Amino acid sequence: MNLSKNKPIFKNMLFVEKKFKHDIFQKKVQIEFRQMAEDEKFNKSVEDELICAICYGIAEEALESQCCHKLFCETCIEELKSSESYKPLQCPLCRASASFQVKQEKSCVSKFARRLIDALPTTCPNNCEAKNLVRGNIKQHLTQCPNSKYTCSYPKCDFSGNLQGYQQHIQERHGSDLVTAFDAFWKKTEQSDNSASSNTSWFYYLHFFFFFFFFNKVE
Ligand SMILES: [Zn+2]
Ligand SMILES: [Zn+2]
Ligand SMILES: [Zn+2]
Ligand SMILES: [Zn+2]
Repeated sequence: MNLSKNKPIFKNMLFVEKKFKHDIFQKKVQIEFRQMAEDEKFNKSVEDELICAICYGIAEEALESQCCHKLFCETCIEELKSSESYKPLQCPLCRASASFQVKQEKSCVSKFARRLIDALPTTCPNNCEAKNLVRGNIKQHLTQCPNSKYTCSYPKCDFSGNLQGYQQHIQERHGSDLVTAFDAFWKKTEQSDNSASSNTSWFYYLHFFFFFFFFNKVE
């Protein structure tokens, strides 16, 4: 058998075999990763690594010490700094100095940990029905959460409730004031438009949108 004649095919076969092995390896890694992501023990061990060494919660705005490479919340470090017992720039865990020069340089902000923490799944603190919430988008969610609490800003009114309840409350309890304020708003807008100084009109427009919102949203 003349091998040299078959060389290109032989070479090709080697390549295919190599590629095949590589693909199998990749598949295996993918499957393992998927299994790990669903594995509670694995998730727990990852979460353990993301815990603040001061408050034992998931590190908020994570900082990483440059000495022992542990994570801390930015607020926990700030609180520690303002306490009397704190020695300036000393690590609270291993006592190494110059570990948290947050103000001087941003070197101890752990961007990687922050990314991981932002991706951790979470639930709405107001127990709304929202799905797919992660820690990174919870603040944004709370600005539009249907269960977010609103307290009435009317003097001596102690109403508090969700957005829909608040809208209803304003219409039912302060409806007449709403009309007065609405009228006053338009008259003032007219005046300021007629007068030379219309500098403040944007402010009234802002209020108009506020009232417009309520008149439209309340059923
Ligand atoms: Zn340390
Ligand atoms: Zn903390
Ligand atoms: Zn919510
Ligand atoms: Zn009220």
